[in-house]
Amino acid sequence: MRILLTGAAGFLGSHLTDRLLREGYTVIGMDNFITGNQGNLAHLEKNPNFNLICHDVSNFISVNGQIDYVVHFASPASPNPASPLGYPNLPIQTLKAGALGTHNALGVARAYQAKFLLASTSEIYGDPLEHPQKETYRGNVDPVGTRSVYDEAKRFAEALTMAYHRFHKIDTHIVRIFNTYGPRMRIDDGRVIPNFLLQALRGEPITIFGDGSQTRSFCYVDDLIEGIYLLMLSDYHAPVNIGNPAEISICELANQINQLTENKAGTVTLIEKRLSTDPQRRKPDISLAKSVLGWEPKTSLENGLLETIRYFQG
Ligand code: NAD
Ligand code: UDP
Repeated sequence: MRILLTGAAGFLGSHLTDRLLREGYTVIGMDNFITGNQGNLAHLEKNPNFNLICHDVSNFISVNGQIDYVVHFASPASPNPASPLGYPNLPIQTLKAGALGTHNALGVARAYQAKFLLASTSEIYGDPLEHPQKETYRGNVDPVGTRSVYDEAKRFAEALTMAYHRFHKIDTHIVRIFNTYGPRMRIDDGRVIPNFLLQALRGEPITIFGDGSQTRSFCYVDDLIEGIYLLMLSDYHAPVNIGNPAEISICELANQINQLTENKAGTVTLIEKRLSTDPQRRKPDISLAKSVLGWEPKTSLENGLLETIRYFQG
């Protein structure tokens, strides 16, 4: 079975590549390295079952030979405008990866009658008014807000995926990924866990955007990949939340990271919010993943953070 995986050089794409190769699939990775890192795949250079193609998925995708599954992960993913890798600094590329990239990836799936999985996001729910978020919640997204280039691209990508499923009868799947962390995140991509670890490992105070009362629910990468793999094999077509429901405030996260890294500064600094549209609360309802996939996360935040700290310490 040959799988085309877009965004393969990224944090999640590289972990999924490893998992698929371990399961015996052949993987064709596709990436333009806009936010990814080729080093994430360096260990696969001599693997005969892996091939890496440098290509922007917003342009027509052409691959040689049969494809049995298309997995579409290519998209910038960090909301931090202070990082050049954040989608506020890649607005057009982000809209194109979600819209044109999804269209091209679905086109490949249709041409080969291959299965398809879309990496969607909890950002579909925007700044949610329902808590925790179930898949049936339709979201609270500002279509012209500072996060809209990402949120609306992913919402369009979900709609397009369902159109290919309903109209072209493609066997599609949609995973709504909640905040995930772990080894191979880029230390400079601006997301909260790498940012906090960078500061803590340098012995600096951690900077919190806003008052730190906003919450997130962090999933360790191995748990997420297991859930995605089960969804790929399932016959479930509607979107499924995959994330860890253990909710924590950003202030508590900063304190835990200061403690685990034994940060000498040991303090936090509150600065102005970077994005006015920063969601105040986020926590997945994972009852659907439990019932359809028999999946739930296993890694505690403390153990996952310790693994991630080891990675960043090299
Ligand atoms: P990442 O930035 O590490 O990986 C994204 C990869 O896609 C990078 O390698 C990048 O170079 C590539 N890419 C971007 N635009 C491209 C294009 N036009 N053509 C080819 N390649 C392109 O981010 P990640 O955290 O691994 O995210 C992967 C996917 O999962 C994204 O679709 C993201 O929206 C989704 N997601 C991630 C999270 C999370 O917490 N990590 C949460 C929700 C959704
Ligand atoms: N955040 C922060 N300091 C940082 C980076 C992020 O306080 O250095 C906050 C951010 O404002 C948000 C939360 O941490 O409330 C999670 O941010 P992240 O960029 O990881 O992604 P999001 O969940 O907002 O998509």
